[in-house]
Amino acid sequence: MQKMRETGGVVRVDAAGNIFARREGRERGLAPVLVGSHVDTVPEGGNFDGVLGALAAVEVLRGAGATRRGIEAVVWACEEATFAGASLNGSRAEVGRMGAEELQVVWRGMTKAEAIRRIGGRPEELESARIQPGAYHAYVELHIEQGGRLEKAGVPIGVVEGIVGVDRYEVVVRGEANHAGTTPMAERKDALVAAAQVTLAVREIVMSEPGEQVGTVG
Ligand SMILES: [Zn+2]
Repeated sequence: MQKMRETGGVVRVDAAGNIFARREGRERGLAPVLVGSHVDTVPEGGNFDGVLGALAAVEVLRGAGATRRGIEAVVWACEEATFAGASLNGSRAEVGRMGAEELQVVWRGMTKAEAIRRIGGRPEELESARIQPGAYHAYVELHIEQGGRLEKAGVPIGVVEGIVGVDRYEVVVRGEANHAGTTPMAERKDALVAAAQVTLAVREIVMSEPGEQVGTVG
């Protein structure tokens, strides 16, 4: 936020805890362009995930010169991190995809409402975070490529043509603890053996047909 203020941008935290910084354009009536990303990241997922796009947005505010449309930089809150298994937390509120019941979910000893309040949001006004159609002319996000393909191909930058849609499932495998040395093989109910089969099955199913789909078990 300090870096945003240094550009002369007008900084605000919306009800969902997302940070916005606005710089007016020459023509005030025109919808601004939204530019940004997130600043949280996946542990071991690379240093520049999100941060590159967030800093780039600040740099655009600072260095773009006079523009016809206003420019707004955004940092989406809790994008990669999951809150009780749900990610894209800040941006989902912007499109009305975070219901009031989700605010009461508890994770690491606090409700989502408390977490949003802690970062400066106003969970009781969550509806106000919703971006109305036409509010922005466009949204631009610079992001590192996380598949490593551009680097392999020696191409410095690319345009996104598709984006991963993620489904998550939690599977509980129940076995039976018993004496390791004396239980006959036929009587064993080893949860890890079943879990290993499930893990391999996910890989086999994903690879059984051509396409870009991926699957993993963590
Ligand atoms: Zn990211």
